[in-house]
Amino acid sequence: MCTVFTHAFVGLAATAAFAPRGGVRLYAVAAIASAAPDLDVLLHGLGIQYEDAWGHRGMTHSLLFAAILAIGLGSLVRGGSSSRAGPGWFVRVALLFPIIASHGALDAFTDGGLGIAFLAPFDHTRYFAPWGPLPVPHFGLASMFTAYGGRVMLLEMLWVWLPAALLAGVMLTTRWRRHRRTG
Ligand SMILES: [Zn+2]
Repeated sequence: MCTVFTHAFVGLAATAAFAPRGGVRLYAVAAIASAAPDLDVLLHGLGIQYEDAWGHRGMTHSLLFAAILAIGLGSLVRGGSSSRAGPGWFVRVALLFPIIASHGALDAFTDGGLGIAFLAPFDHTRYFAPWGPLPVPHFGLASMFTAYGGRVMLLEMLWVWLPAALLAGVMLTTRWRRHRRTG
C-alpha cells in the first residue's frame, strides 16, 4: 500500500479534475473508496495470510473488485447540491472505477511486499510495475512520525500528489476558462 493519505488525495484530485461539481458526498466517497482496498488488512485478524486470495493486495486490489465497488457506490451516492443536478449514474461509476483501480496501480509502484492481484479471482498472480519509486509505509500512525515515515510521505508527494494536483489544476483552469468564454 501507499499511505491512506495518498490514496485519498488521488480520489479528491480526480473528482476535482473530472467531476468538480460532484458535491461533498461524491468527494468524500471518492476519497474513502480510493483507500478502501486496504481494508483487507483487517482480514489478517481472521487468519487469512498475505499471499492468500483474500490476503493483502489480493482480491480487494483487483480490477473486478474496483468495478463492483464503483457500481455499488455510484448507485448509492448522489452527487451535486440540491439546486443543481449532480453527475449522473454513469459518470459517477466511470469516475469511481479508475479511482478505486488506481489504488492497486499505485501499490504496484512500491518497492516491497507482494505484488497486486489485478486479475483476481481469475488469476491470482501478483504483479509489480517495472519500477518501484515508492517505499512501502510501515503499519500504524506512529510510523508516520519517524525519519522513514517522513521519507515515504515526501516521495509519495513528489510522485503522486504533485502530478495529481497538476492534473486537477489544469482541468479546473481549462473548465473555468471555457466557462468564462461561453459566459
Ligand atoms: Zn493497498
